[in-house]
Amino acid sequence: MVRPTPALMIQATGSNAGKSTIVAGLARALVRRGLKVAPFYGCQILRPSKLLGFEDPDRPQSLERLIEACGAEAIDYPAKVKCCGFPIVLAREDVALGEAIMPLEQAVDAGADVMVTPCPLCHLSLDAWQGKAERKAGREFRLPVLHLAQLLGAAAGFGEDELKFKRHVVRLSPQTRRKLLPEAPRTEQPV
Ligand code: SF4
Repeated sequence: MVRPTPALMIQATGSNAGKSTIVAGLARALVRRGLKVAPFYGCQILRPSKLLGFEDPDRPQSLERLIEACGAEAIDYPAKVKCCGFPIVLAREDVALGEAIMPLEQAVDAGADVMVTPCPLCHLSLDAWQGKAERKAGREFRLPVLHLAQLLGAAAGFGEDELKFKRHVVRLSPQTRRKLLPEAPRTEQPV
């Protein structure tokens, strides 16, 4: 069976076909826990917009709707529709890191607990290269980057082991873990 790509997943769940209502009905576990989520679309989900015909590439809302359907708060910041820099990271690392810094910096400044993306490469690059981005920017971000499926899974009640958060380079802080995972311990433990 062919697995749907993340782009198809967000397009389908973001359509007017009613799937987001189903998500809203099933996945409200994060409501009232105060989790602030920075959406990061991934440029190839939005562009070329004439070919994809998805939504306004400059003002998309489908990812925000999914975040809110999970009961979390979607925060807004300009770089959510930009490129993460991944395609040029080997050829022009300095430029690529500059592209990664922009969304990380803006999301942290806007108060995000985590960033979420439907793009697996954005997920990888913004997590794995975050340390280098921090050194270039001269400041700490410590912003966990979740794949969209992990956010939906957390909202639907999947556990930390199933969601594989411990494989991330940037780990969840104890405070963020409590907002995201219902079974998280009340006492802070080293990760
Ligand atoms: S990895 Fe970077 S270049 Fe690729 S889709 Fe995501 S934002 Fe765009």
